[in-house]
Amino acid sequence: MILNITILVALIISNVTLNQESALRVGNVSLPVFSMNGVIQLLMFIVCIIMTCISYRAGARLSYGILIFTVLYDMVGILHTKSLAPLPGAINAMLAFLAIFIISKQFRLVEQESLTDYVTGLYNMRGFLETIEKRIAARSLFTVIYFRIDNFRMINDNLGHDMGTRLLRDVSVKLLEMTKGYGTVCKIGGSEYALVTDVDFDLNAFRRGMKERFGGKIALEEGEYPVYCYPRVYAGSARYPEDALDVSTLIKYADLALYHAMKERANTLVCFDEQMGSEILKQNELETLVKECLAGDYFYLMYQPQYDTRTRQLRGFETLLRTLLPDGTSAGPAEFIPVAEKTNLIIQIDTYVLNRALTEMVDYISNYGEDVILSVNVSANSMTREDFAEHVASVLKDTGFPANRLELEITEYSLAENENITIQNIGKLRKLGVKIALDDFGTGYTSLAQLVKLPINLLKIDKSLIDDIETSEMSRDFVNVVIYMGHLMDCDVISEGVESQMQVDLLREQNCDYVQGFVWDRPLYYEAAVAMLERKVH
Ligand code: C2E
Ligand code: MG
Ligand code: MG
Repeated sequence: MILNITILVALIISNVTLNQESALRVGNVSLPVFSMNGVIQLLMFIVCIIMTCISYRAGARLSYGILIFTVLYDMVGILHTKSLAPLPGAINAMLAFLAIFIISKQFRLVEQESLTDYVTGLYNMRGFLETIEKRIAARSLFTVIYFRIDNFRMINDNLGHDMGTRLLRDVSVKLLEMTKGYGTVCKIGGSEYALVTDVDFDLNAFRRGMKERFGGKIALEEGEYPVYCYPRVYAGSARYPEDALDVSTLIKYADLALYHAMKERANTLVCFDEQMGSEILKQNELETLVKECLAGDYFYLMYQPQYDTRTRQLRGFETLLRTLLPDGTSAGPAEFIPVAEKTNLIIQIDTYVLNRALTEMVDYISNYGEDVILSVNVSANSMTREDFAEHVASVLKDTGFPANRLELEITEYSLAENENITIQNIGKLRKLGVKIALDDFGTGYTSLAQLVKLPINLLKIDKSLIDDIETSEMSRDFVNVVIYMGHLMDCDVISEGVESQMQVDLLREQNCDYVQGFVWDRPLYYEAAVAMLERKVH
């Protein structure tokens, strides 16, 4: 700014104080002032171009001002002196004007591209952030709507990438129609959109629009034949300034509302409310707790035995993580693991648990339990790391734990997140001799086609599937089919969360190989678990 003002003042002084017909003497040489003037003007134009390159908006604006002034001044000079001497200066100024116009247009184009999603032509994440920042700066009231196609990956994989691209474009068109110029539609992620809508935008009409436009199948043209797909869409909204006053909180709240919508039925919009805000507080508390536990080593492990359904012989232990801070606060893994998964703290947790479990158990497993298996839970975040198998190999090497006694429990989310890397990692781990169990089976959305491809050793039936087997025949039949299927896949089957002897008896009848549950043992402290291993031999 100071530079700009200095240039403007210098220009005015040079033009005003120097007379066109006078001359400057430098030694013996006499320089006509108008050529001096020309040199100064040329330097000025160069500075104008540099200013435009450095800051194309402010620089171009000031340069335009300077150049218009120069042209007008030269024109007045021509009329006043009736000499054409200032004409080259005026022409140069006009050329500089043109150059600055072209340069700033190029800059605008580059900026536009950096703000645009190339598939849909909508604003991208950067464009979206700029839009809300501008709105907040202008203190205008608005609503942010997060919008997601939940099953996009499946559609993309099954119909092909071209169809996936068409779907994304089709959804953009539908969203633009639904906002009818009452806001900006942006595409902020693979299958995520964000809408910034005016305060008088009718959210109920948007809700109805979602049902009408996305409630059924969508036709995508492929050659002569339309291809149909059923996108499942969800939306969550948060308002400025009622719900949040800054960009990051607003986005967090819209995302949280979207998360709540995803727990409801498809094609719904959920608005953020204060109760969700308290959930965020709870999540923040849990995040702090996890960080403190990692920093102060306030985690410990419990080991829940797994038994052979027929012989009640010990199969192994599942490692379960627990927290206890010195001030007595604690939380269960069902609470803090999902929070850690969102923040990627889970990678540190998984590394910690694997190291600690193998270190704690290596001697006992090697000396006493020659057929005992140690199971460790692994989150989808870790399982989809390209170097995960190598990491496990190095922990096995460092601890001296026998690879064939280690079992890693993965969930279907690993497949949903990145099927290729998950399968690659399973392959490498199996080569090391490590066993793989599929945890919580029956709670995810994995298709049978995907499941049979998985080279796993153990299928873990989730507690929710066996909860009603005592009372419901349908539930019994269902569990029966799952066990049958597990055996067809050439793997063992274990039921978790078994709480009654009657459940054990029914599972035994259905050929379920193993059980894990409160009926025979709750998770044990480390000392109790190793004592059990010692008893096994003595
Ligand atoms: P999960 O891997 O399915 O673990 C089984 C959960 O069921 C454990 O809960 C266990 O205590 C509980 N359980 C076992 N038998 C019974 C029963 O008969 N009745 C009932 N009501 N519950 C039973 P926990 O320890 O609270 O763990 C919850 C989840 O947290 C685990 O589910 C797992 O997904 C996650 N988790 C626990 N430890 C770790 C860990 O070290 N790493 C990772 N990534 N996740 C973990
Ligand atoms: Mg588990
Ligand atoms: Mg489980």
